[in-house]
Amino acid sequence: MIDPSFFDEGALVAVLTTQPLDRALDYKAPEGGCHLGAFVEVPLGPRKVLGVVWGPGKGDYDYAKVRSVLRVLDVAPMRAEMRRFLEKAAAYTLTPMPAMLRLATRAPGLGDPPSMRKVYRRGPDEPDRMTDARRRVLEFLAEYGDLSFTLKELAELSGVTSSVIKGLVKQGAVAEEDSPRDLPFAPLDPDLPGKELTEDQDRAATHVAEAVRAGTYGTTLLRGVTGSGKTEVYLEAVAACLSAGRQALVLLPEIALTAEFLKRVEVRFGARPAEWHSGATMTERRRIWRMIGQGQAQLVIGARSALFLPYQNLGLIVVDEEHDTSYKQEDGVLYNARDMAVLRASLLGAQVVLSSATPSLESWANAESGKYTRLDLEARFGPAVLPTMKTIDMRAETLPSDRWVSDTLKRAVDQRLEAGEQAMLFLNRRGYAPITLCRACGHQVGCDQCDARMVEHRFLKRLMCHQCGETKPMPTVCPSCGAEDRMAPVGPGVERLGEEAVKLFPDARVAVLSSDMYGSARALKAEIEGIAAGGADVVIGTQLVAKGHNFPNLTLVGVIDADLGLQGSDLRAAERTFQLMRQVAGRAGRAEKPGTAMLQTFQPEHPVIRAILAGDEEGFWRAEAAEREAAGVPPYGRMAGIILSGPDAAQVFDAANALARNAVPLARVGAQVFGPAPAPIARIRGRHRVRLLVKAGKGVALQGAIAQWVSQLRLKGDMRLAVDIDPQSFY
Ligand code: ADP
Ligand code: ZN
Repeated sequence: MIDPSFFDEGALVAVLTTQPLDRALDYKAPEGGCHLGAFVEVPLGPRKVLGVVWGPGKGDYDYAKVRSVLRVLDVAPMRAEMRRFLEKAAAYTLTPMPAMLRLATRAPGLGDPPSMRKVYRRGPDEPDRMTDARRRVLEFLAEYGDLSFTLKELAELSGVTSSVIKGLVKQGAVAEEDSPRDLPFAPLDPDLPGKELTEDQDRAATHVAEAVRAGTYGTTLLRGVTGSGKTEVYLEAVAACLSAGRQALVLLPEIALTAEFLKRVEVRFGARPAEWHSGATMTERRRIWRMIGQGQAQLVIGARSALFLPYQNLGLIVVDEEHDTSYKQEDGVLYNARDMAVLRASLLGAQVVLSSATPSLESWANAESGKYTRLDLEARFGPAVLPTMKTIDMRAETLPSDRWVSDTLKRAVDQRLEAGEQAMLFLNRRGYAPITLCRACGHQVGCDQCDARMVEHRFLKRLMCHQCGETKPMPTVCPSCGAEDRMAPVGPGVERLGEEAVKLFPDARVAVLSSDMYGSARALKAEIEGIAAGGADVVIGTQLVAKGHNFPNLTLVGVIDADLGLQGSDLRAAERTFQLMRQVAGRAGRAEKPGTAMLQTFQPEHPVIRAILAGDEEGFWRAEAAEREAAGVPPYGRMAGIILSGPDAAQVFDAANALARNAVPLARVGAQVFGPAPAPIARIRGRHRVRLLVKAGKGVALQGAIAQWVSQLRLKGDMRLAVDIDPQSFY
């Protein structure tokens, strides 16, 4: 019998590479043959590139000219499930397969033989002369039996210098050995006791744990206010998954991946899980990638790209803060990690838990329609209660144009400061001022490359474009009329708000938290942890403070501009504002002290503001759902964005018009095209951007039609076309 998953030497195989080609290429299987799914190195022109054996070769090329696979890499072959997942994800997001494969191989040096390092353990002999230091090392090793350590670990743990250990090696009392660098992760113990759960929590935990044990696909939406114990609940599902001998993945928004969280997981399971995030070193990445493939990492805590790791036996994916917009990758491959998690789990017979205090309308609707199971945790754990929500009517406050903290809010902050508590002022605007304007001619400084205003960052002493990151020095002379010293900041950013706070609260320690003010994500997290521990009295922050951090002494949140998110035409503006305001408010009053959230607004009667205030989540979702259903927009209809871009505006428009005129493949499935129109940001990095919007009914197979439609277009020169299925933002 022929084994369809193995190719003998010389057999034709189709190899998918990470190079931008439109199909897999034929090669001959190397000496010794190769498995279906094997990671291989193949020649491509003058280069050697990484690829995966995707199936039998097509054989439509002269056999004599077909080249051979150079070598099979020493890693587990890609599993059939993973190949299917990449294919389905590619078809869904209309992404070329090579780009998909790149996502799945984001670990450098996969092909290298495992590198070695020196490790140390007890040797057979005794030292000729015993010293205190030597005794400490030997006693330490005796205590740990047969375990081995790196030189640094052993020196630190036994409190000696490394030369002491080297001395013991010479005498044979300590053995020095080579060991592979990519070590398995320490086993986790799912049987350690978790916290004692409340009735609510226990009901939810039992449900998800049983679903995991059943070993079938299913998605559960776990909703509960911040602090209600969602994390405790899903850790029980993780425990059930590990007990069943399967791997688990917990996805978090990058910024929520904190030391505090990892510590919590470590306490629960007795050892550290694997962490996958942008700050991981190359070596760590490779280790995690390999160990997951060999089943020697049981639990991964990771940012969205952890979804593309080669799990051997994945049984559970948790998506924490499932509504978070950072799950949608906005450049390169446009995918939503939440949706891809559901796709991957459905192919695997695995469970998904979507956890959120403020679910996305998509997930809410899927729970309503019965596609997802919904579980609710009603109360915060322990004595903590939900914050009281109030509005401050800014029409009644008289504020000069260069101040943003109303008297009402100032008094509330003063009260907290007197009580020795923390207050937070929330403003979702980075930098010092969003506009820099010439008082003589009215000119606003814009980016040379983009249709966007430059934002003053006083901290960096530059103007910065938030689209392309371009910076320039703050001009003293107006670039338009040449007037001297007439440039002035208009409007507030967090830095400017910080200045105001320092004046308003002279005795308080004011800290400004904004992602651009710290050199690294690690430094920023350290700062946040310092503040949570009491390092500041007034915290000023952008939306990053809304994500998952615990400020136990924070009892007041003042939202400087609750109307900010309601402007603009984005279909998710209301949903986003609702979520963000609820999340920010959730920062207040987590421990024993009750909190208050105050929203400064010029439109207190706006339905969204009223829904936020009333805390009527179901009411808000129902109203929002009804509106979207009436408009036939997601999640009650389908949408895709097409962005054409290029250096020449006219050429881009011509191409977009041609597309719009030839929309037969779309019409066939009943989909409509809107546009072309200049994208909301009509120029980024010197490229003109034109947008088309495709709308269709809910059940329509949109991807096939779009693929056919856009394939008619021959892109000239430097023009590019990007398709965004289920766009999250319109820019
Ligand atoms: P969420 O994920 O919903 O924000 P967490 O699971 O983080 O909530 O719980 C909030 C806090 O309350 C955490 O410090 C957690 O350890 C604690 N907590 C929640 N449930 C329990 C429980 N049943 N017993 C003890 N502590 C709990
Ligand atoms: Zn720019």
